[in-house]
Amino acid sequence: MSEFDYDLFVIGGGSGGVRAARVAAGEAGAKVALAEEDRYGGTCVIRGCVPKKLMVFASEYASAAKEARAYGWDMADGDFHWDRFKEKLETELDRLEGVYRKLLKGSGVETFDARATLKDAHTVALSTGEVKTAKHILIATGGRPVRPDLPNAHLGMVSDDIFHLDALPKRVLIVGGGYIACEFACILNGLGVEVTQYYRGAQILRGFDEEARGLIAESMAQRGVDLHVGTDIVDMHCEEDEDGLTAPVEVTQYGAKGVEEVREVGKPIRVKATNGKTREFDAVFFATGRRPNSDELGLEALGIEIGRKGEIKVDGYSQTAVPSVYAIGDVTDRVNLTPVAIREGMAFVETVFKGNPTEVDHDLIPSAVFTQPELGTVGLSEEAARDQEEIEVYSTSFRPMQTAFAEGEGRVLMKLIVSKATRKVLGCHIVSPGAGELIQMVGIAVKMGATKEDFDRTVAVHPTMSEELVTMRNPVRTA
Ligand code: FAD
Repeated sequence: MSEFDYDLFVIGGGSGGVRAARVAAGEAGAKVALAEEDRYGGTCVIRGCVPKKLMVFASEYASAAKEARAYGWDMADGDFHWDRFKEKLETELDRLEGVYRKLLKGSGVETFDARATLKDAHTVALSTGEVKTAKHILIATGGRPVRPDLPNAHLGMVSDDIFHLDALPKRVLIVGGGYIACEFACILNGLGVEVTQYYRGAQILRGFDEEARGLIAESMAQRGVDLHVGTDIVDMHCEEDEDGLTAPVEVTQYGAKGVEEVREVGKPIRVKATNGKTREFDAVFFATGRRPNSDELGLEALGIEIGRKGEIKVDGYSQTAVPSVYAIGDVTDRVNLTPVAIREGMAFVETVFKGNPTEVDHDLIPSAVFTQPELGTVGLSEEAARDQEEIEVYSTSFRPMQTAFAEGEGRVLMKLIVSKATRKVLGCHIVSPGAGELIQMVGIAVKMGATKEDFDRTVAVHPTMSEELVTMRNPVRTA
């Protein structure tokens, strides 16, 4: 008989937590419990990747009728009905949450619909009043969006709120230049919302390849996003009082759990920007960053180290300074993506329950930005690679056949960064429709250490956009 109630107690039923719990119980035969305070599936399923991608799909139909007409179809432009889409979206998310619950149950994981905190290195206290002990505790509590430190920032919404809107705003200001900001700018633009985007930096999508960032910014502007870089909010308010500033008025629940925000429904928000202009918007959407959910878990009292951004400090095996406590996923702020949280969960189970110490490999992770067009990327940007070693850059940008035939304007980019010394492909950047699908495959080759010559000896698939990846003969520059 174990001295503990469980072998493993997982806090958080999102991507990482659910996978770790299922595999530990189902494959390693551990006695596992999991606590989730909100909805099973976590950020990815309930308020991230999944609903967002469904919104991307919805928004992409905007140009379908026009393109179909160019191809000879009789097709009239139609209107988008948010209420119809939202109803279907909610049904789908309910279904997926049910699947997650079922998977946990099927693996023998005991679940608690409760908030959990740590009492000591082996004890978890639940908001239901129950107290449970476990040999190991896994923290997989994810992260949350944060508003900037700005007067009246509560008037704006964050990504969690978008999926709960009763109606789409007519005019929205999106603040931020990261992937979530850019994706929602494209989504809302596609759905017919008048989108303005302010980003304080010099170019959107910081950290990605510069040529790719430039092309996406250009495409977004071409499609109607009013993008202003080098621009931030100075002041925002809802209703003018005598001195021109505000007193927010009525209470509206924007949907985000625990957030009671003040905003008069239907009243425009007046926003003064660093460019000196004041404009009105029906909604302001802050996509200005996320923070790990590490507070109020009782971690510091236990001696678990928390970093400057609120991230739980762990070693390569996801172990904290307290040996029985591990942490995975966004709460550790390593690479904040669903498949990475899942990998970290699997590596944790290998290490702790299967006697096979496994460090998580965070190198060469392919990823996508679901803008229109999409960005698929793996490895180093041109800028990062040339700081590291001598490189050759192979790059081509062109109007794809499908768009060109329909007299559309969009261009695509296919780009390889190659090491001069080893000939290895250090990075690949694709801006095109379906780039997320393409980069998954390129990611395998790059992870295997493919050289430019390996790409060259692969026969092209014709006619496709990605055939350019194996037919670019001469570098456009060396650095
Ligand atoms: P989460 O999925 O956030 O799960 C944590 C869970 O813990 C939550 O359900 C929360 O309610 C629960 N919890 C927190 N505290 C407690 C507590 N004390 N007790 C009990 N339960 C608790 N990633 C991609 O790979 N591709 C994408 O396209 C993508 N798009 C995204 C779009 C948006 C808008 C956002 C916000 C994120 C997106 N991500 C995407 C990131 C991805 O969603 C996260 O990296 C992933 O969900 C992290 O998983 P996790 O298990 O660490 O945490």
